[in-house]
Amino acid sequence: MQRCSRCSYCKWIPYENQQNMDFIKGCPSAARYNFHAYAASGKWNMSYSFLQGRIDYSDAFQDAVYRCQMCGNCDVSCKVVQDIEPLEHMQTLRMKFVEDGQILPEHMLFIDNLKKEDNMMLAKKADRGKWAEGIRVKNLNKEKAKVAYRAGCRYAYDDELWPIVRGGLQILLDAGVDVGIWGDEEVCCGGRSYQWGYTGEIMKYAEHTMEALKAAGVEILVNPCSDCYQAYKVLYDKIGRKLDVEVLHITEYLHRLIKDGTIEFTKEVPMTVTYHDPCHLGRLAEPWVHWKGKEVKVMGQMICHEPPKKYRRGANGVYDIPREILKSIPGLKLVEMHRIRESAWCCGAGGGVKEAYPEFATWTAAERLKEARSVGAGAMATACGWCKRNFLDAMEEGADRIEIYDIIELIQKAM
Ligand code: SF4
Ligand code: SF4
Repeated sequence: MQRCSRCSYCKWIPYENQQNMDFIKGCPSAARYNFHAYAASGKWNMSYSFLQGRIDYSDAFQDAVYRCQMCGNCDVSCKVVQDIEPLEHMQTLRMKFVEDGQILPEHMLFIDNLKKEDNMMLAKKADRGKWAEGIRVKNLNKEKAKVAYRAGCRYAYDDELWPIVRGGLQILLDAGVDVGIWGDEEVCCGGRSYQWGYTGEIMKYAEHTMEALKAAGVEILVNPCSDCYQAYKVLYDKIGRKLDVEVLHITEYLHRLIKDGTIEFTKEVPMTVTYHDPCHLGRLAEPWVHWKGKEVKVMGQMICHEPPKKYRRGANGVYDIPREILKSIPGLKLVEMHRIRESAWCCGAGGGVKEAYPEFATWTAAERLKEARSVGAGAMATACGWCKRNFLDAMEEGADRIEIYDIIELIQKAM
């Protein structure tokens, strides 16, 4: 904690990724509230003071901790200059807050519902499978299938997004994939509540998922939702519950089908499209790295690790596959924004911000929409229901308008 030098690099994207002065900020929280406490560094400073007994819990401390999307942009930038891990620190801080009852009433509404109804949408468990009504597909509660397709809470309950989640499933069925769904029996992955600081739920859902996958003989778990994908691929491994099936995002699975010729594009999609990297498919999706060892102080100052620690720096997320799909669509021109890949600006919907501070969530999305317009895109593609929802909400509130597509929708247009 003492190793944070207050260099403030965590507020910006790394120098080598800076392309345009209007789009070099990396931390939405620091950018919106313009006060050090809201950056990763401010949270280090407050935690250190707290541990030394110089400050106590307060509304201001709580505000800075929860007005953060847990997007990890700070983590990537900090590791360019200092190998400290702000995102892990903020995760631990949130867990401590929850443990000590320093919780937001807005979050509790969702957590209480999650405990009863197994979803993060304040909805009923009995309605979870409605998105798939009318589609003839295997029921994994009774039948076995090689591939499990999981809608995730956002897609399962947000009916405006149903065409995406239904479209993804239909493409798999039309391609002859042996696929099934759990319908009403599907449960939350636990990833979002974990990011908010609640750790019990993810353990419960990890155990449930392991059993459900085994019972249905599943070999590949396919997720149209980036949040779910990151929970299954990274968080479950982190908490010692690594799944013994292949975890894929839908773009990864569809990319395989495009490559082997199962999916063929027959139509032109004459659009200029930019791609928004969802945090949970990008830097946060980098595989978890387990490390066991000790910290050693060298020359009374430098902290080194024995054995050397391999850091997650965000470069190993899923960046190329969505872009390759977009570039392979006939007639589609891909233009890049200024903050991309591990330096992508967050959509604003993560970390419990959408639920507790909706105005901050849509402000963050509006900043991204400005960036998309600035590079001359007529449409923005993404690969996560939470991102699409937040961009749509921001436009409803007056942000720059642009067409928003999930990659699944663009694939369907081209088939
Ligand atoms: S968290 Fe990292 S990047 Fe931010 S001020 Fe501290 S050392 Fe610098
Ligand atoms: S996780 Fe994102 S919002 Fe939170 S401090 Fe880091 S960059 Fe800022």
